[in-house]
Amino acid sequence: MKIIGDKQIKIDTALAKEIAERSGENVFLCYQCKKCASGCPSREFMTSTPTQLMRYVQLGMIDEAMKQNTIWYCLSCETCSTRCPQDIDIAHVVDTIRIMVQEKKIKADTKNSRLFNWLWMTILRYMGRMYEIGLTGALNLFTGKPFKDMSLGMKMIKKGKLKLFPSFKKPLETKKMFDRAKRLSK
Ligand code: SF4
Ligand code: SF4
Repeated sequence: MKIIGDKQIKIDTALAKEIAERSGENVFLCYQCKKCASGCPSREFMTSTPTQLMRYVQLGMIDEAMKQNTIWYCLSCETCSTRCPQDIDIAHVVDTIRIMVQEKKIKADTKNSRLFNWLWMTILRYMGRMYEIGLTGALNLFTGKPFKDMSLGMKMIKKGKLKLFPSFKKPLETKKMFDRAKRLSK
């Protein structure tokens, strides 16, 4: 048992061990230097910083590690992994937790991030590249705000910042890649 702040928690290493088995990353190497958090571009939107996430995993604090929005606001930019003096691939740890949350059907504070993630991957899988208007339109439709971002979108199209029609890039190749990844993960 350990006291953190005003909270009494039971330390459980099962979560860290499962993450290590799945990702090959040892979170116990983290000594909380905060280099990952200080370079994270999504930090201000996250409930907890990547540094705090590492600590939650070390301590087996499942709710904090898996139910907060931190893993869903991660952009997978890998800045944290590059900066870590202990060579922990934090982005990979985050990805692993995301997969575990979905497999275990844990109800997490994702707001629309899980839906966004699913739409993003579906478009990528079938088109071979991102189609921003389709992504934004589908997200707004699914969340009941079909006209949200419309005027901004029109301005961006006029300025050539967004393409009205999708372009496909080796869609079958990308689908094969996704199917192979699915087979390998079984
Ligand atoms: S990979 Fe995620 S957690 Fe790491 S710096 Fe980028 S956004 Fe932040
Ligand atoms: S940069 Fe590495 S060692 Fe430092 S807090 Fe982040 S995970 Fe821990």
